[in-house]
Amino acid sequence: MQKINSYDFKGKKALIRVDFNVPLNENFEITDDTRMRAALPTIQKVIEGGGSPIIMSHLGRPKSGPEAKFSLRPLVQHLSDLLGGVPVKMTTDCIGDETRAIAAALKPGEVLVLENLRFYKEEEKGDETFAAKLAENGDCWINDAFGTAHRAHASTAVIAKFFPNDKMFGYLIESELLSLDKVLKSPSRPLTAIMGGAKVSSKITIIENMLGQVDNLIIGGGMTYTFVKANGGKVGNSICEDDFLETAKTIERIAKEKGVKIIMATDVLAADSFSNDANTQIVPANNIPDGWEGLDAGPQSIADMKKVIEESGTILWNGPVGVFEFEKFEKGSRAIAEAIVTATQKGAFSLIGGGDSVACINKFGMADGVSYISTAGGALLEYLEGKVLPGIAAVLE
Ligand code: AMP
Repeated sequence: MQKINSYDFKGKKALIRVDFNVPLNENFEITDDTRMRAALPTIQKVIEGGGSPIIMSHLGRPKSGPEAKFSLRPLVQHLSDLLGGVPVKMTTDCIGDETRAIAAALKPGEVLVLENLRFYKEEEKGDETFAAKLAENGDCWINDAFGTAHRAHASTAVIAKFFPNDKMFGYLIESELLSLDKVLKSPSRPLTAIMGGAKVSSKITIIENMLGQVDNLIIGGGMTYTFVKANGGKVGNSICEDDFLETAKTIERIAKEKGVKIIMATDVLAADSFSNDANTQIVPANNIPDGWEGLDAGPQSIADMKKVIEESGTILWNGPVGVFEFEKFEKGSRAIAEAIVTATQKGAFSLIGGGDSVACINKFGMADGVSYISTAGGALLEYLEGKVLPGIAAVLE
């Protein structure tokens, strides 16, 4: 494995797997270019090193074969603008003689975007012949698509075998791994994980994995009520997964054995309907009246959670602790975000990841106050579950 910082790109055609799966409106205008911006340092490094970046990505979910609405063409001009006017060419295919000839003719500093990889079903199948054809377009391979690193696709993993001495991570994946390792491998203690969201079922594997690492586990959001019911409490109409009552008990038992402190709501803001116009009252978390449901943490719980977070050395936040989409029920999640920012100012390392907590911190305008925000979604969750990601393993092997 090579390091992007020290690799000599002079005269090289560098195949870069990026995640340019950006949202487009009906006029094919990019509505959020975060993912494109995230790949710029890697692309710029190749250009500055005297190489030619060849961009590979998927966009959307084409069914079978090319579909104009999933073409990467609408991204070309914007990429050129983001790179300060560097010329960006585009092919009509991602493999084949014509593509290879265009790639081979690139001059140092010229950028090429290959057409959508998922126009070939072989991409998602991880087909080796297809990966070999992609590999023919370049001299080295850089994986910078953390968002698809949990997939063993042709361009994200299989292609690695064609570049045994010329494969590396891009800067985005490097920084994702560095940040995740600060949480999972060498955290400053105490390490606190805040697991929120709607359901225990979707977070169970992460919670199980985190139990072996954290000092404090804050469990919030809709998950709370499965734990409350498992302990004999009354949850009213709150979201609750009866199939996971035993799981909740097991988590509590393992936490006790491992000396992990679990912090959960003792009081909640309950509502008489799932709406921003609902009537509300603060009630004990284990005694929610019939017809009412807990939609946010109550004031005592918020104070307890804040205290633990502010005293932490490392913080991982995945999932809101209330229905933050409704203003009436955002207080708990807002307080969590504020406490994370305070802890970060005091020197803690904070990582936020998983779709909804990122939406949450952005809604509160506090993204600048945390150490790292991962936008990776599925790949991040699998990493937190302790799984080996094929796109990472392929570079390291
Ligand atoms: P997840 O994708 O699992 O992180 O879940 C995020 C969703 O959980 C958000 O849309 C929240 O509105 C929702 N959520 C958080 N707390 C509750 C709650 N007490 N009851 C129902 N939904 C909740």
